[in-house]
Amino acid sequence: MKILVVEDEAKTSAHLRKGLGENGFTVDVADSGADGLFLATTGDYDLIVLDVVLPQMDGWSILGALRGAGKQMPVLFLTARDSVPDRVKGLELGADDYLVKPFAFSELLARVRSLLRRGPGRQADLLCIADLEIDMAKQCAIRSCQRVDLTAKEFKLLELLARRAGEILSRILIAEQVWDINFDCDTNVVDVAIRRLRSKIDDPFDKKLIHTVRGRGYVLESR
Ligand code: CA
Repeated sequence: MKILVVEDEAKTSAHLRKGLGENGFTVDVADSGADGLFLATTGDYDLIVLDVVLPQMDGWSILGALRGAGKQMPVLFLTARDSVPDRVKGLELGADDYLVKPFAFSELLARVRSLLRRGPGRQADLLCIADLEIDMAKQCAIRSCQRVDLTAKEFKLLELLARRAGEILSRILIAEQVWDINFDCDTNVVDVAIRRLRSKIDDPFDKKLIHTVRGRGYVLESR
């Protein structure tokens, strides 16, 4: 198992490298945000231990970039700031767990093992298309590191489009799947719902993900 530790405090990273190494893990250390993001996106890691306050690029930006790039390995956040907003921000961005500094190594090891155990099962719960991340377990969507508030129906519609990303879905199919009803004639409901979803998912951003295919339906994809 390969773990990346992104931590700028030499003492802490040396301690983690030694401790994790002794417990059978292969450990790489990055001491800046930029190096951390580079290694995390190019290397094949099973888990990342990520400090929040780092030179060049903070842990939140790294996490957002990683999830945006479709990297789903578990991330354990290390934070010196034990405030609720910080923790919530990290978890909303897709952190899997966090640990407040100073921490006992035994606790970090227990969290690492627990995250690695549940690792693969989690992946099906997260869908990523470009910088859009959809978390099934938490029923929330994040675009460009910003949380998007959706109604239950909007979320269901987005989930359908995302699970079948790249596939053109007809209005009839969408109506049946999302509303559980066969809208024989009035598929206008779908158009209205798509418009509302676009206003939240696409309108605030340059890159559009929901596309209309004339006469056929809608497709969610990164073009
Ligand atoms: Ca730090």
